[in-house]
Amino acid sequence: MRKPIIAGNWKMNKTAAECRALLTELAPKVKNATCDVVVCVPFTDIALAAELCKGTGIAVGAQNIAWAESGAFTGEISAAMLKEAGAQYVIIGHSERRQYFGETDATVNSRLVRALEHGFTPIVCVGETLDEREGGKTENVCKTQVEGAFKGVSADDAAKTVIAYEPVWAIGTGKTATDDQADETIGYIRSVVRSLYGDAVADGMRIQYGGSMNAKNVEGLMAKPQIDGGLIGGASLKAEDFAYIVNSASK
Ligand code: PEP
Repeated sequence: MRKPIIAGNWKMNKTAAECRALLTELAPKVKNATCDVVVCVPFTDIALAAELCKGTGIAVGAQNIAWAESGAFTGEISAAMLKEAGAQYVIIGHSERRQYFGETDATVNSRLVRALEHGFTPIVCVGETLDEREGGKTENVCKTQVEGAFKGVSADDAAKTVIAYEPVWAIGTGKTATDDQADETIGYIRSVVRSLYGDAVADGMRIQYGGSMNAKNVEGLMAKPQIDGGLIGGASLKAEDFAYIVNSASK
């Protein structure tokens, strides 16, 4: 049995004051969660979020991590900085990073290696665009992204990693993949992990769905055997919505 994991991706939202308000409202609503609960907050909120989440069962994550340890990398954030601030998880290779900030499979791989070296739980995002889905390329795209991300990563390290399958056309659009589409593609991604690392890693790895997951569609998605949770953007910005999703995944 894989323990479900629900992670919020706040993206570039929530000042420190807003972070305090949201987490103060959220914590009591998810206190009985039996799934893993994570909030991936902006860098400036990490230390505060870590403080506020102490003893609540909510873990804090970042949305990116540098591949270098330190030095002349303006605008980047190091593993040591994230660790000290209190982050335990880190999203790597989100499609918005790939689309707007030049992230490639190679940079995703370097960031993943660094995150694992420092003991973070990485959440590696993969997924196809609408053109790619319509062109029948979904499986090829996901395979290339998974193989690229995990290049040189050992089976032990792969087993500590979470994958988020996020079809780009479903992110922030209100269009969700159907339960069957999400389940099928996640099953395919698991088969790619199986061919890289064998049964134990593939059967143990948590693979989330992400893309307009919300209080209305969470039950259907979570009922699918391959789907081990969600990476939630928009719906993670309201305590009530996010708590509903967490509590549904806890059933
Ligand atoms: C995301 O940012 O990873 C995401 C899935 O966003 P949304 O839920 O808003 O589609």
